[in-house]
Amino acid sequence: MEDQLAIYGGPKVKSGPFGSGQRFGIEEAKELMEALQQNTLFYHFGGKVKQFLRDFNHIYGVNYSVAASSGTGAIHIALGAAGVTLGDEVITSPITDQGTLVGILYQNAIPVFADLEPHTYNMDPASVEARITGRTKAIVVVHLAGNPCDMDAIMDIAARHQLKVIEDCAQSYLSRYKGRLAGTIGDYGCFSTNDFKHISTGDGGMVTVNSGEEEDYHTVHAFADKNYRRFGSSVMRDLQTLAPNYRMTELQGAVGIAQLKKLSWICGQRTDYGSRIGAGIEGIRGISPHRVVEGNTSTFWFYMLRVKEEELGCSRNEFSEALAAEGIPCSAGYIPDVVYMQPMFQQRSAYPGSLFPFDITGINYERGLCPNAEEILRTAVRINVNEYYTESDINDIIKAVHKVSNHYQKN
Ligand SMILES: *Cc1c(COP(=O)(O)O)cnc(C)c1O
Repeated sequence: MEDQLAIYGGPKVKSGPFGSGQRFGIEEAKELMEALQQNTLFYHFGGKVKQFLRDFNHIYGVNYSVAASSGTGAIHIALGAAGVTLGDEVITSPITDQGTLVGILYQNAIPVFADLEPHTYNMDPASVEARITGRTKAIVVVHLAGNPCDMDAIMDIAARHQLKVIEDCAQSYLSRYKGRLAGTIGDYGCFSTNDFKHISTGDGGMVTVNSGEEEDYHTVHAFADKNYRRFGSSVMRDLQTLAPNYRMTELQGAVGIAQLKKLSWICGQRTDYGSRIGAGIEGIRGISPHRVVEGNTSTFWFYMLRVKEEELGCSRNEFSEALAAEGIPCSAGYIPDVVYMQPMFQQRSAYPGSLFPFDITGINYERGLCPNAEEILRTAVRINVNEYYTESDINDIIKAVHKVSNHYQKN
């Protein structure tokens, strides 16, 4: 019987492989060779990181950006430039990569988690506002999985409370909020080019400086480079404050130049495929699609639906296993739990042997703090999206979600 689930011995919806492709080629090799021929791999003396940033700035329509050695570094740089320091609170999302949080804690500031909108999986502005205290210095919004946050509301809150806004765009290249590119709306936009993102330089990152002011750019730049300020061959080493070294090398810059040329195609494919999955599963009883607000563009780093367990009469895990058995690459949830349930927050052990900086305010990270976020991770099924998938791969994903849902609805 064709509609017998594969997990119970029926035929799989997808038996062959998914479309795949080669993300690096001769274009990257050529840029790398030129980088080596420069006889320096230092960003300030070579031309590759500079070219990479010029191209990136052109795509993003910004005057200034700074290269970094990782997305984690990019976010730390933005926090440092924003003046986040000891005892400040920074409001962010409980469903994110821990790279969002590292810089906050290294600045000895305290992460405060806002709850999420149940279907976009992005920060709910009302919850953000409710978490503001006299210590709040900044908001780090996370555009999760390529889907832009409600930036008008966030920017309005930030303006009223004089907070800096940092956009974590590690998963959201070329995502658009009401037509504007995510990463150009807050004070700073932070990107990652680690090997799992839309484009890769092995590791790397970028920070956009959205004020467009030269002095701001110098502050950001210095925070990425031990607070050195470089002018031609001279270096100003006056150290007033502490800053790490998150410099990008010419090798990363070289690969990045070639990768940026593919970015528009990659994001276009992902937007198309994610949107098709969304349209294809719309209206299935017991399934909540990944919501992209009308007027916005998601570039789908992944597609994440939610299972209404009561309506479907199966658990999220059963659904996810049945879907995987149909040959669809997917997984139950995203991260295992909201980040504040990690031992580092539960035991306040960021710095071993100390409760710092959590003891500054005695902040509590108890279960139930962000109920929507907790429920999202408990009921979500994440489906891989890749630019090399074919249209028939996408049709099979849709078919398999229907097949598995139909089966459980009947039981
Ligand atoms: C990948 C990622 C980061 C960290 O980037 P790295 O380059 O791995 O340091 C930060 N935030 C989010 C949301 C990410 O997905």
